[in-house]
Amino acid sequence: MRRIRLLVLNAALGVLDYRVPDGMAVEHGSVVVAPLGPRQVTGIVWEEERLPGESVPEAKLRPILSVLPVRPLHAQLRRLIEWTADYYCASMSSVARMVLASGGALKGGVTVTEYRLTGTQPDRMTPQRKQALEKLVDRQGTIRELAAIAGVSDGVLRGLVSQGVLEPEEVDADRPYPRAQPDHAEPVLSPQQAEVADELVRAVEAEDFAPILLDGVTGSGKTETYFEPVAAAIRAGRQVLVLLPEIALTENFLRRFEDRFGVVPVLWHSSLKSSERRRAWRAIARAPEEGGAQVVVGARSALFLPYANLGLIVVDEAHEISFKQDDGVRYNARDVAVMRGHFERIPVVLASATPALESLHMAETGTYRKLDLPSRFGGATLPTIRLLDLTEEPPERGRWLAPTLAHELFARMERGEQTLLFLNRRGYAPLTLCRNCGYRFQCKQCSAWLVEHRFSHRLACHHCGHEEPTPEACPECGEKDSLVPCGPGVERVADEVREIAPEARIAVATSDTLNTPARAAEFVAMAESGAIDVIVGTQLVTKGFHFPDLTLVGVVDADLGLEGGDLRAAERVYQQIAQVAGRAGRASKPGEVLIQTRHPEAPVIAALAEGDRDAFYAAELEARRHANAPPFGRWAAIIVSSEDEKEARLAAARIGDARPRLDDIMILGPAPAPLAQLRGRYRYRLLINAKRTAALQDAIRDWLGPLELPRGVRVGIDIDPYSFV
Ligand code: ADP
Ligand code: ZN
Repeated sequence: MRRIRLLVLNAALGVLDYRVPDGMAVEHGSVVVAPLGPRQVTGIVWEEERLPGESVPEAKLRPILSVLPVRPLHAQLRRLIEWTADYYCASMSSVARMVLASGGALKGGVTVTEYRLTGTQPDRMTPQRKQALEKLVDRQGTIRELAAIAGVSDGVLRGLVSQGVLEPEEVDADRPYPRAQPDHAEPVLSPQQAEVADELVRAVEAEDFAPILLDGVTGSGKTETYFEPVAAAIRAGRQVLVLLPEIALTENFLRRFEDRFGVVPVLWHSSLKSSERRRAWRAIARAPEEGGAQVVVGARSALFLPYANLGLIVVDEAHEISFKQDDGVRYNARDVAVMRGHFERIPVVLASATPALESLHMAETGTYRKLDLPSRFGGATLPTIRLLDLTEEPPERGRWLAPTLAHELFARMERGEQTLLFLNRRGYAPLTLCRNCGYRFQCKQCSAWLVEHRFSHRLACHHCGHEEPTPEACPECGEKDSLVPCGPGVERVADEVREIAPEARIAVATSDTLNTPARAAEFVAMAESGAIDVIVGTQLVTKGFHFPDLTLVGVVDADLGLEGGDLRAAERVYQQIAQVAGRAGRASKPGEVLIQTRHPEAPVIAALAEGDRDAFYAAELEARRHANAPPFGRWAAIIVSSEDEKEARLAAARIGDARPRLDDIMILGPAPAPLAQLRGRYRYRLLINAKRTAALQDAIRDWLGPLELPRGVRVGIDIDPYSFV
């Protein structure tokens, strides 16, 4: 190839043409560095016919500078980049950046210097040196890693290096990860599990696209079951990607994976250190037979990595909305996973006890294959569910637990069993006000109340992350000790438990308290060993966890999720409560679920009480059909924002005025967004409802493309939105 077209990793630059200097080998997918004026840009060599742009005349072409030492992105991945950009109305370069997600990895192999003890003693012993010598037995790592392990400064260790107490070794930063053993500890599957596992293994062996919905009740052993096709892929020398919705769930997963396969899988998530990122990226880009990664478990961003030889994708808890990214490229990893499976010609397994209506509909219409695990593993039964009508049995003033729930919680403590109280609200109270003057604490950057966090003595905005210390006096009227909390958060419910059962050992489980893998692991270990009586948690504890002694689940406020304008509210409430109910009675002791509600007659609450998932899904599906909502019609949202309120309003109005008049697309708005201000930007929204057959993305591009808006205005396009704030 002498002349190439580059997809440049900068959306503003678009596509650029270059010349390849003599002797340089370049192919489609190669990642190269090219000159641009005085600067250099990174780009991916693309098929010219697939990347429209004006051709630069031969004489004007500049030569590229170098080819980066990474394997060219294969054609299937290039098709995935194109599809994702097209479907989500995003730029190809922003999708490509998610593929090339480690700057370090693009620079090629490097070595790092690691150190280990030699056995020599230092000439002079100090307390720190002594500590280092004790803590570093059998350890090897960089100075920084060892300093963290030993709890001493880098300087102490450098001193030991100069005396020969620690010796250096140059190691390959990309050294392979330990090999997973597909036969390490094969489980004995139940007949039901074995049947499903066989089907999944056959799908892997068929080496063809197969979207599969694994619909298994909570506690049915979905993980054990899908580990069998994982083993099959490992045996075949192919790679596996397992997507998990929350990083707090990975700890549990890693342990089970290690039990089954003898080693932990390769991890990918946004808080990896850059050295871990580069090593994981380079391993993923290498086939297992060449020492590459075998199994990768990660958050949604792991989906776009350049797997050398992918053989299977599993999306666990596939109904979870955290698979949807709400900024940048607003993609849904569940849906893109299916497309990746389509391009790579491999099976994609969506596992859930409460599948999304969209997924279930795909199964019912024959697009996805559906495999069922209808009963719990090991003879455990599903929990019984009872409604507590708070209009009949209200909690005392200032309390949130009805007497029956408190009574049952006591009974569990006496029997040495655990209770989980679920309330999807972090912090102590969602609103704080001054009883003297009525002042309410609000975020200055967002139209949202500040949430009190008592553990950390702070008021926090859950939208932008702003935090301030809780003041002692009202900032408005200066009155001391006048602040009153309104409504409950998990910390407040924990306080209530402490009052009614002072001896209870309580754990609050939220993204504030389980914010690192280590903390999540500690929590799981304590809960499993019976060192916790009562867990008070948010949606974080609704899924994945398996605590054998947990026999009571209390849903503190089942009505919470039904408020507001979320078009999937009923479905989400159903999923959350069914999932949290699924934590109860997973082993030998039967479980019970108490649901506190003021609306026992609401269809979703009634369906939960009856345990009638099919009826709920059928009714919800009918409602969606009438509203032309997914899976029947489609939605898209346009979010217009600016730091200047008037500028945002006028831009939204101009977009509204320019709307196309089409039979199959209805456009609502613009209207101020429910979250009218976010991070200092004023926001307006338009909502689009389209027939399934409409050319929705093309209509949006034709509509917005020609509009020239002020520089301060941002326009976000959200295809298949999950957030309506
Ligand atoms: P799910 O994800 O479907 O809710 P899990 O995969 O968490 O269920 O399984 C529930 C529990 O049963 C887990 O502790 C799991 O280890 C155990 N389990 C499931 N299947 C088996 C099996 N075949 N052999 C041994 N333990 C199993
Ligand atoms: Zn804020």
